[in-house]
Amino acid sequence: MPDTFAELGLSEPILKAISDLGYEAPTPIQAQTIGLLMQGGDVIGQAQTGTGKTAAFALPMLERVDPALRQVQAIVLAPTRELAVQVAEACHKYGRYRGISVLPVYGGQPIDRQLRGLRQGAQVVIGTPGRVMDHIRRGSLDLSHVCYVVLDEADEMLDMGFIEDIEWILQHVPADRQTALFSATMPQPIRALAQKYMRDPVTVSIEREQLTVPTTEQTYYDVAPSAKLNAVSAILDHEMPGAAIIFTRTKLAASELTESLSGRGYSVDALHGDLSQAARDSVMRRFRDGQLEILVATDVAARGLDIENVSHVINYDIPNDPEAYVHRIGRTGRAGRTGAAITLVTPRERRLLKDIERMSGARIRPMKLPTRADVAARRVEALKTSIRDRVQQGDLEPYLVLVQGLGEELDLAEVAAAALSLAATADRRGPLVMVEPEEETPAETPKSVNGMVRLFIDAGRKDGVRPADIVGAIANEASIPGRAIGAIDIYDRFSFVEIPERYVDDVLAAMSRTTLKGHDVTFKVAIPRESQAPREDLPRRRPPRDSGAPSRPARRPMRPTHRPPGRPGRG
Ligand code: AMP
Repeated sequence: MPDTFAELGLSEPILKAISDLGYEAPTPIQAQTIGLLMQGGDVIGQAQTGTGKTAAFALPMLERVDPALRQVQAIVLAPTRELAVQVAEACHKYGRYRGISVLPVYGGQPIDRQLRGLRQGAQVVIGTPGRVMDHIRRGSLDLSHVCYVVLDEADEMLDMGFIEDIEWILQHVPADRQTALFSATMPQPIRALAQKYMRDPVTVSIEREQLTVPTTEQTYYDVAPSAKLNAVSAILDHEMPGAAIIFTRTKLAASELTESLSGRGYSVDALHGDLSQAARDSVMRRFRDGQLEILVATDVAARGLDIENVSHVINYDIPNDPEAYVHRIGRTGRAGRTGAAITLVTPRERRLLKDIERMSGARIRPMKLPTRADVAARRVEALKTSIRDRVQQGDLEPYLVLVQGLGEELDLAEVAAAALSLAATADRRGPLVMVEPEEETPAETPKSVNGMVRLFIDAGRKDGVRPADIVGAIANEASIPGRAIGAIDIYDRFSFVEIPERYVDDVLAAMSRTTLKGHDVTFKVAIPRESQAPREDLPRRRPPRDSGAPSRPARRPMRPTHRPPGRPGRG
């Protein structure tokens, strides 16, 4: 497998853009698919979010687009507007030195802006199927120059009921094109789609044999991307690691995190590929000697390092593949010592975590972020332990004379407290404060992520429920704009929908009076992801309805709904 991006045949402008982003080496899915796509072949990539799949299809796509031709030459279909925007941003960054114009199109955004973007010569369009169809029908999206099509998160698009739309779009794209399909799972309809619309596709999956991991204590925390820095601080303060290595995905992220942590008073330095050998040696020496508490490193930089005494490995960014996970956590718990491996997982990376668990055979336990009260209690315990140890050690003569002298004028308990408070001024965390546990909120409340709250509905695909039904019911019954409704996940027997926090009470109240597809349904705030069974393990049985809730009056059926035009919120 190629070890560098340069070996994949990418051009200078693209290589420069990736280097700017701090990528040091291709991830496994990139190493295996980019070459194939560069040669013009169709590829099916079985990979999750977090593996680096976006760059895997985007870099060859951006190489194929002719910057001089102001026509749409590539189309990426994505299940949600969030993903469409995210992919568009990534493409914009990857293509910046080739001067390629990228346009996201999705439902919920004024169509005028999209029409203008298309008229101005967008070359890569990234959109949700509904809105892409709209543009094709209106004649605003000319497909005659399209030579590269990507279906991103195909299984999600299937789950959301987009399969017919995708077929329709594929039938309107010139047959003489290259097609890439990325999907975390390969259900039958997706395989059938690939067979019908792709030319001799090569399937690449990053499945591997079982990997074995040491018996390190492994845990993970669910966090929103924007809450990672606070989360890692709370974890560090609570865990009080002797020596920790924190892994980030890119050298840029390593530098930024080092700066932020150092600004918060931690003793930390970075180890990444841009450092000279002398600088690396110096950082390593300080870490080994215990002068540095924390080393922030990329996988490449940490390769081959043999460090004893690492008490904690923290994956600030979840690694792109299971093998990297095993390498990373192999750095703790060495030589019979116990170690801890902690991973921060954003909602979109949950499946990748599942993969890592499955392939490494490891049990990674969910944890709740420590509250301020937890951190304070831990600090008090640590202080008590160090005082007991110090007393045991003895040799306190000069201090005892001082205390006895003070004891003649002051209360001895107060003397001891004052001494501790003086010692605390040297502590990064500042003075000790009393925190009442019952007033506590967790460092990051799992209930709302980016202002959206996930609701659980006890009806799913087998009850005939489709995304449009949920959008229609909520929009009609709770009178909230359809486009405000976020991601919808439909399973056999139940579903989830994301609602802006401010509408949650209205939606819960309105939905307690209605039915969905003729079924009495319960809407409730979803159990936070920490305590929720991982996706693939979700129970297939119908969960108990109304667990303990008082019985309600019979409900009226919801008003008939129509499929909202352009599927507000999703395309
Ligand atoms: P994706 O699976 O495409 O959503 O990518 C997950 C994350 O990995 C994104 O934050 C990317 O910026 C990052 N990423 C992708 N490729 C690489 C790479 N080769 N090295 C480091 N980070 C990467």
